[in-house]
Amino acid sequence: MFQQRLARARAAMVDRDIDVLLLSVGADLPYFCGYEAMPLERLTMLVVPRDGDPTLVLPHLEAPRVVERPDVFEMVTWRDGEDAIALVVDRLGGAGTAALGDQTWAGFAVDLLDACPNLRLTRSSEITAPIRMVKDDAEVEVLRSAAAAVDRILADVQAGEISLVGRTEADVAAQIARRIIEEGHQRVNFTIVASGPNAASPHHEAGERALRSGESVLFDIGGTMEGPDGVGYCSDITRCVHIGPPADGFRELYEVLHASHSAGVAAATVGTPCEAVDAAARRVIEDAGYGEFFVHRTGHGIGVEAHEHPNIVEGNDLPLVAGHAFSVEPGIYVPGVWGARLEDIVVATDDGPDSLNLIDHRLAVVDG
Ligand code: ZN
Ligand code: ZN
Ligand code: ZN
Repeated sequence: MFQQRLARARAAMVDRDIDVLLLSVGADLPYFCGYEAMPLERLTMLVVPRDGDPTLVLPHLEAPRVVERPDVFEMVTWRDGEDAIALVVDRLGGAGTAALGDQTWAGFAVDLLDACPNLRLTRSSEITAPIRMVKDDAEVEVLRSAAAAVDRILADVQAGEISLVGRTEADVAAQIARRIIEEGHQRVNFTIVASGPNAASPHHEAGERALRSGESVLFDIGGTMEGPDGVGYCSDITRCVHIGPPADGFRELYEVLHASHSAGVAAATVGTPCEAVDAAARRVIEDAGYGEFFVHRTGHGIGVEAHEHPNIVEGNDLPLVAGHAFSVEPGIYVPGVWGARLEDIVVATDDGPDSLNLIDHRLAVVDG
């Protein structure tokens, strides 16, 4: 698997005239070699020359964490006090252009340019994003398993099986975080629990506000689940529930949101540009007069990272191909009053859009 992925990266390097790919912290590294570097101040770097064998340069003390794959990469360790950048530079073989991991610490980029002033740097995503964003069947199945896991949690919320009234957002968020692990993820990425007017802030951090009757609560949760060869894939879902009967205004807003979501998913067919999916969802909200309250793109790609390419956004004319996995998540946010979002992960297939999240889209009303 890793060899095939690296072969694709090399082909892209030839196309783009890039001599070496340098991957450090971030999701490219596990995707291409199965090892995820801790975000440490010590340098870890996979050096992938266009025409040579990859080397993983890493701190000696991290070596026990590496699953060695001699058929994929050679391992070279360095000890505290040694010049790690020099180990990388030794392996550049006079490279003129290097594609450097987008999330590499800027400090290492500076050190690299100090050591090689003529080296031209580009972002690794130029090479890696087009490869990573097209999921094969095995990757889609891990995404589907992760989606099913968060579905089970929010289905319980919709059914009123997780008590809400009187508890703080943070308390409910902590319970959901435990469930994310119990349902089969290895990592919790986020647990947004936003009550009442807090839901008007799309990335609200669950806090000390207590949930109360007569208000809506927005849940946006996700984690990372391990798939083949230990590489993890992400879940991401949003649902809103209302504690007690909703006001007419909120019900109306939610109906618009649901129609927007349906339009976005229906538009997500192979060959449709990403921006047309955004436009399809956005038009419904604009036509209903809520356009100014839909303040973000309609969606983002998902895979090894919770947010990756392709973005479902105006200006992205990339046509969907089978295997693109992304969220469709329109939102309407009225500052100080209320907010709502509805989010599923969708995979473009030759048979049409395949929604990985399957639980009810309607506004669930729970007792309060
Ligand atoms: Zn989300
Ligand atoms: Zn999302
Ligand atoms: Zn629906």
